Amino acid sequence: MTAQPKQPQNLRYIIIGAGMAGILAGIRLLERGETDFVIYEKGSTVGGTWRENTYPGVACDTPAHSYSYSFAFNPDWSAFYAPGPEIQDYFERMTDKFGVREFIRFNTEIARCSYQDGRWRVTTQDGQVDEADVLVAATGVLHHPNTPDIPGLTDFTGASFHSARWRHDIDYSKQRVGVIGNGSTGIQIVAAMSGQVPKLVHFQRSPQWIMPCPDTKYSDEDRQAFRQDPDKIEDVRSGPEAQARRGRFLAAIIDSNSPELTEIQSIVEQNLNETIKDPELKAKLTPNYRAACKRLVFSPNYYQKVQHPSVSVEIAGIERVEENGVRLKDGTFHELDVLVLATGFKVDAFVRPMTITGIDGIDLNDVWAEHPKAYYAVTVPKFPNFFMLNGPTGPVGNFSLIDIAERQWNYGDQLVDLLRNGQCKAFAPTEAALEEYEMQRTEAAKKTVFASGCKSWYLDAKGVPQVWPWPYETFMEVMAKPNLDHYELTPMANG
Ligand code: NAP
Repeated sequence: MTAQPKQPQNLRYIIIGAGMAGILAGIRLLERGETDFVIYEKGSTVGGTWRENTYPGVACDTPAHSYSYSFAFNPDWSAFYAPGPEIQDYFERMTDKFGVREFIRFNTEIARCSYQDGRWRVTTQDGQVDEADVLVAATGVLHHPNTPDIPGLTDFTGASFHSARWRHDIDYSKQRVGVIGNGSTGIQIVAAMSGQVPKLVHFQRSPQWIMPCPDTKYSDEDRQAFRQDPDKIEDVRSGPEAQARRGRFLAAIIDSNSPELTEIQSIVEQNLNETIKDPELKAKLTPNYRAACKRLVFSPNYYQKVQHPSVSVEIAGIERVEENGVRLKDGTFHELDVLVLATGFKVDAFVRPMTITGIDGIDLNDVWAEHPKAYYAVTVPKFPNFFMLNGPTGPVGNFSLIDIAERQWNYGDQLVDLLRNGQCKAFAPTEAALEEYEMQRTEAAKKTVFASGCKSWYLDAKGVPQVWPWPYETFMEVMAKPNLDHYELTPMANG
């Protein structure tokens, strides 16, 4: 339908989550001069994943200059791949620089959001109620720790904790440490702790392909140059090298038969073959699936660090955890003082465990009974004036989630313009639009490398990758301007 300009409306917004995406939402609203909003945050400060993940070696394997807001470059990154604490510091600074902090209600978890009489009614865990015209979920993806179902885990008498709940009260230099899991997190932890503890055992259920990457640190001169010439930052973000890297990776993931994937495969095989000397260790570390099927792990030094004499890799499978260590299926027993669960996250939660109900009380949990879905990863039919940043089926892989969130905000903001301008009372995508999107997305997703024969957190219960399966350029195009033909716009009461 064609929307006609009407009386401008003043809107109130509720944003849930003060991680990278929630801070972005606050900044963008303030830029527009809008101050009638609140950001609810369950934690005691901003930063989301970077607040919660404080394990040794935590870093972002997206180049730091790309993992920054497009409008707030940071010439001060210490390295090409920034360590986690620096990223956390960046978000703290951005929150203050743009004046967002005063709009955040910390230590406040939201229990329910329901759309009633044309407004969102939001209830906190302690029963307070707030209302707004627009609801934005900026709740992130990787924040509900996955505790593995390993027999005996609770019998362990040493310290046992998830990687996102790192214990900083322990002197690790005297501890025998076991790390379960070898995703990006487990690999970073083992590389950082190697040689720092008397014994380190890396329990791997499935080996990972490892992409070598430079361990480039920026010097004071580099930082000075970035400060003086922002084009140098732009070059790291989107210059020819960045484009080639992104282009190769994109071509590889959307087509598992592409020459780009063959190239990536040969790089990771070379990395393994040239770095690991011992044939037995090499066999243990060799995956039986294709590179990038699981999220590609980037590491400048894991293979070097895992060959330290105090480190061992176990692939026999864990039989059970006992009081003082881990028993493997082949009978081997490792006595341990600390057991780190680098076992990932419950990735299909998204906005849950919040209950979100839309028109006529329809529950998002029911809409998502099979798997989480959203039209172009942003909006959901029957949930008016609601959109998600980094919601289900968005682009995944080794991209900057900040760029993704910025584009999704731009898209959602244009929909909100319809409300601001009084062109309609509510917007939501049509059921047909979501159905068509899901049908095409599912078909394309089956051809991606993520469906090429491995288990990963990208797959739903039926083994279909829950990802954006098309070129990133397509994502950029569809986010540039919402197609209103695919939206139901509720007219204003006065016509
Ligand atoms: P993950 O990739 O989901 O890896 C979880 C690991 O735990 C896997 O090795 C898995 O083995 C293992 N595991 C799970 N349950 C197990 C069980 N019951 N018994 C034995 N092993 C078990 O989790 P993650 O490493 O925390 O990474 C999650 C995501 O966080 C990444 O994909 C990435 O998006 C993000 N991340 C990014 C960075 C970065 O540098 N940008 C760093 C860290 C994390 P299987 O493979 O056999 O399932």
